[in-house]
Amino acid sequence: MSPLVVQKFGGSSVAGADRIRRVARRIARERARGSDLVVVVSAMGDTTDELLALATAITEDPAPRELDMLLATGEHQSATLVSMALHALGVPAIALTGAQAGITTDGRYGRARIAGIEPVRVHEELAAGKVVIVAGFQGRSESSGDRHEVTTLGRGGSDTTAVALAARLHADRCQIFTDVRGIYTADPRLVPKARQLDVVGYEEMLELAHQGAQVMQVRAVELGWVNGVVIEVLSSFEDAPGTLIKEDPFVEQRNKVRGLAHDRNVAKVTLVEVPDRPGVARAVFDPLAEDGINVDMIVQNVGHRGATDLSFTVPRVDLARTKRILEPVIRELGFRELTTDSSVAKVSIVGAGIQNAPGYAARMFGALADAGVNIEMISTSEIRITTIIAEDDLEVAVQALHRAFELELPEAEVTEAEAEVTEAAVDAGDPATGVRAPRGGGATPTGTA
Ligand code: ADP
Ligand code: ASP
Ligand code: MG
Repeated sequence: MSPLVVQKFGGSSVAGADRIRRVARRIARERARGSDLVVVVSAMGDTTDELLALATAITEDPAPRELDMLLATGEHQSATLVSMALHALGVPAIALTGAQAGITTDGRYGRARIAGIEPVRVHEELAAGKVVIVAGFQGRSESSGDRHEVTTLGRGGSDTTAVALAARLHADRCQIFTDVRGIYTADPRLVPKARQLDVVGYEEMLELAHQGAQVMQVRAVELGWVNGVVIEVLSSFEDAPGTLIKEDPFVEQRNKVRGLAHDRNVAKVTLVEVPDRPGVARAVFDPLAEDGINVDMIVQNVGHRGATDLSFTVPRVDLARTKRILEPVIRELGFRELTTDSSVAKVSIVGAGIQNAPGYAARMFGALADAGVNIEMISTSEIRITTIIAEDDLEVAVQALHRAFELELPEAEVTEAEAEVTEAAVDAGDPATGVRAPRGGGATPTGTA
């Protein structure tokens, strides 16, 4: 039987007729090697952003159902054009919508999850000798009747379409073609010295994606991990070795910090002088959760005279909605005021080794201090340390951290410096983190909510 390859091409890879023809040639080459191919495509270039802008130019509050119908058309365009480009090369191909490919979702507009895939049509078309082009980022809602709705999978969702199809079809390979050569130690657009990784474990990639490394959608990594799909990330513009996302058995031997991630889609909300009594956090966070707003970092200060300050972050795109939802709560509970700051950014260091090695927090905060960057909030997980800083400091901060953790060096050369820092940190402070108790502040970092 011929091997089955799932290939996904991102927006920049199909931005324009020339690029689409180039993608078609690459697909034709793989087919000439004897593979069966299922190809997932994103919308061309900035099409999704342009469609969103059009909708919001018409109304501030577009109906979620209509918006999903609209956004899904971006991927319809590119799928049909890639199919036509293959025809022009004499390669049999057919474009399918997500629904035609049998992808069903839980029906949540704008952030649907894939509920199942019944790839009957995909199998039929493959059996008929065609390359199957699937419009990414979409599926139809499950329902017993015939009132299916078009739903989209959230920004970057074509990655998830590809990995889900690879898992369901038991594909031999799952390749994500994009505008960089693979996964780097930091976003190469921000850190010119970022180094490409040969392999990155699912856990580390998941954390990087969660913290803003937009190169892979979070859910695509989750699905790959759960289903054991080895994901290959590689350039659609060059023939160069990519990065494999897979179980990483050498994780303990590697540099403890594997990469940095940053995120500008962050806003900070502070509720000033909130009454310090049971039930207040619930009154604030329940309505936000109900509206699907993803509250990330939460910091509550020590209370004084029955009141306390409560700060948290939300995606910047949800800030207006957050304020609207909290207005009645503010009146009810009687805070002094609600302040917001949408010029902050999030910077994280990620590495599976962080959990067992002290000193990383101290080294991170030290590097930021030396670079003159003020830290506004901190949170940690077992394999990550995250700080909120001013957006203006982002580039300086990320580059300083990249240097401090010697991420530009090949892994084999890092070990010695790592060992020194680890020892120094143990000598200097708390054996668990290598951090001295914070001075003054009294803010309590909490985990991700
Ligand atoms: P596509 O349109 O192919 O889906 P995206 O724009 O979604 O591409 O993702 C690719 C971009 O992700 C790169 O251009 C790069 O700027 C950014 N990126 C962020 N973090 C990383 C990282 N650690 N490694 C590689 N790319 C990254
Ligand atoms: N076109 C969608 C987006 O821009 C999905 C994707 O590119 O993966 O988010
Ligand atoms: Mg993407």
